[in-house]
Formats: sequence, structure tokens, C-alpha cells
Amino acid sequence: MKDIIIVGGGVAGLTAGLYAKRGGMDALLFEKMFSGGQMATTYLVENYPGFDEPISGPDLAMKMEAHARKFGLEILYDEVVELELESRIKKVVTDKGEYQAKALILCMGAQPKKLGLPKEDEFRGRGVSYCATCDGAFYKDKLVAVVGGGDTAVEDALFLSQHATRVYLIHRRNALRASKILQDRLFANPKVEILWDSVVDEILGDKGVEGLLVRNVKDGSKKELKVDGLFIAIGIQPNNALIQGKLKMNEAGFVITDETMATNIPGVFAAGDLRQKPLWQIITAAADGAVASVSAQRYIMEEFE
Ligand code: NAP
Repeated sequence: MKDIIIVGGGVAGLTAGLYAKRGGMDALLFEKMFSGGQMATTYLVENYPGFDEPISGPDLAMKMEAHARKFGLEILYDEVVELELESRIKKVVTDKGEYQAKALILCMGAQPKKLGLPKEDEFRGRGVSYCATCDGAFYKDKLVAVVGGGDTAVEDALFLSQHATRVYLIHRRNALRASKILQDRLFANPKVEILWDSVVDEILGDKGVEGLLVRNVKDGSKKELKVDGLFIAIGIQPNNALIQGKLKMNEAGFVITDETMATNIPGVFAAGDLRQKPLWQIITAAADGAVASVSAQRYIMEEFE
């Protein structure tokens, strides 16, 4: 039996693991894909203190993993398929076995939201993408559109402008919610054209994306936009499938915790993008992981020693 099992190897999970090991805990982390979570699909990180030169998301992910491993964190690349939260000893079932722990830290993170358009799923990988950093290079000298008005959409549009000949940013309102510094860069970029007050009604094409039917929500007018790629960046949804109906969540499905990262079940903590909070960033995920880990250690001391 482990002291602490961490589910998810993004920023929150790796930080929780680092703090657990430095706190002398026997800790194990499960990750189903790759370390770093959403950060690992980010092109450049320039708002994580201490890195005054931008660092790539994958590089920072590798550093965070190496840092946690340096203190002895055990990481298993297995998918967790079931969690037993209510019992005093928590149970974690993976595709390879069953594990027990005195406390759990849930760091399953979040993933990009979908627009819900016909052909969106069918054309994923054939023009539809949720990750400009991953797929942008395929669009060299092509036309692309980005949907959204937040930090991700603007960063994606800026990144794509390095490859594509033209980038359309399609936003449903007439103002962006992205940070000012990103907006300034966007407005100064000659390759980017912003379609304000606009939504995508349809993805056009037979075997892959060839264009979009775009509607202006103010006057109802529609036009066809020829593009080779559609990048959807309209926010995130929590990866909560494992805990549906088991933990208190808000209406959007983000786990509700107190400031110690405790959920409504004793011994179960949540950290990072999975959690309801005012700011989803690398630094807040790291902070959550640290707090959750220290809280889990305190819980174990009180409950088991
Ligand atoms: P976000 O901030 O929630 O923005 C989502 C955008 O998509 C909004 O502009 C929203 O429009 C639009 N949208 C939502 N649903 C839509 C729909 N069905 N159809 C069309 N448009 C839709 O999401 P995000 O940009 O992915 O950012 C998520 C979090 O990560 C934020 O906290 C963000 O600050 C953070 N982040 C930070 C950085 C950075 O600091 N460099 C980079 C990336 C992400 P409305 O504006 O009209 O609501």
C-alpha cells in the first residue's frame, strides 16, 4: 500500500509528486499518455516565473518530470480505469492491476471543448485539430481558421501564422477575452484576419476540411471561407469520467475543493485544471499540486499515525 497515489502526470500531478517525495511519502503517480498534460501541447511558455526566456511546453514538462523523479517519484504509464474513493483505504484500478493508498490526489486535468458540429469528429486529423502546436506544421503555406477568443485561440493564431499564409480568427463576439499582451501581438500580425461576431455553422468538404460556412451573428449573413484547416480553441472541459457522481462538482463538471484542495470525501484531494478555480495556468496548477500534497500528508498523519 502506498501513502499517496496521484492520478495524472500534468503540472499539478508532477508537483504533487515532488512535494510528496520531499515530504518523505511513499508516492506513486499514474499517467496514461505523457508527462506535462496540456502544457506539453503548448508551443512556448513565457509566463512561468524564473524562465525569463520562453521555454517550450514539452521541455518544461520534461524538466518537471525529471525534477520529480530526482526525488524518487515512481511514475507508471498506465491508464486508471476505476477509483474507489469512499473507503478509508482508497483503491486505484488500472488496466494492469490494483493499487491501494491512504490518500489520493486527483490531477486528471482538462481537455479542449468541441464545437459540436457535424463532421467535426469525422474530420479530426483531416483538417480539424484541437492542438495548433501539434498540427500547425502541416499547414505550411495553407489557409487556416481558429475559433475562439481566449488565450489559447490567440496563441494558436499567432503560432499558425508562422506556417500558414493566412489565419482567420473567428470569434462569436466583438471583443477577445485573451490577455492584452497577446491581443496586441495578434492585432499587429499582418497574416491574421479577425472575423468578429461570427460562428461556424458548417464544415465544408468531402474527405477533409475544404472550407467553412461562417455566419455573422449580428446581421445573419453567411459566407463560405476557403480553409485547409480548422483549429478549435473554445475552452476546456474537465477529465472527470472516473469520478462522475462520486465527487462534488460544479455544473461544468469541475471538482469543488476547499483551499487545502480537499474534496468532499476525506483523503481525496484534487489539483490543477480538474478543479473549479478562477485561473487555469501552469503556475496555479503547480501551486495546487503543492498544496494538495502537503494537505494529503497532514491528512495521513492525523488519520493513520
Ligand atoms: P477560455 O479562456 O475559456 O476562452 C474560450 C473562448 O472560446 C472564449 O473567447 C469564448 O467566447 C469562446 N467560446 C466558448 N465556447 C464557444 C462556442 N461554443 N463557440 C464559439 N466560441 C466559443 O479558454 P482558453 O483560451 O482555452 O483558456 C483556458 C484557460 O487557460 C484560461 O484560464 C486561460 O487564461 C488559460 N491559458 C493561458 C495561457 C497563457 O497564459 N499564455 C495560454 C492558454 C490558456 P466568449 O469570450 O464569448 O465567452
